[in-house]
Amino acid sequence: MQVLRDEGLSWAENFSYASQLLRACYKGMHLVGDLMDIVSPEKRSQMMAGIKGKNTKPEMIVRKLVHGMGFRFRLHRKTLPGSPDLVFPRLRRVIFVHGCFWHRHPGCRLAYTPKSNAPFWLEKLEGNVRRDSFALKALDALGWEVLIVWECEVSNLPALAQKLNCFLAAG
Ligand SMILES: [Zn+2]
Repeated sequence: MQVLRDEGLSWAENFSYASQLLRACYKGMHLVGDLMDIVSPEKRSQMMAGIKGKNTKPEMIVRKLVHGMGFRFRLHRKTLPGSPDLVFPRLRRVIFVHGCFWHRHPGCRLAYTPKSNAPFWLEKLEGNVRRDSFALKALDALGWEVLIVWECEVSNLPALAQKLNCFLAAG
């Protein structure tokens, strides 16, 4: 299999490459565990740093859809808990676009634990889930409504558009 191509890739590119591998898992190929064994520890930790990868593809698709519906938003508000990906200040609503693997989408086939180095992954991934849950509670306490869009939902654009519209257009 192909490994990460060179050290000069941006994090968005690496994240996108990891996403391609994850998509390959749909076809029954468990490549990510292999990938993690192949890459250097340094590269591995860089990939981990890509958890909150900015401008990743699913996020761009969500932005485009929402923009096309006529809603205007701000990006990655660091002043809000969890630094939501899209923020609608006037509506007091926020949207997170989550990678299924990194944020452990419940019941999703992309949200598995790599067999190799499982304790490391469990700790890492469950730490993400804890942080997400903390951010949701904090946002709720501040009066923000939250929508989570999962990476795998981007494969069904009509359903995704409907979900976004329901969330944003609701009174
Ligand atoms: Zn998913």
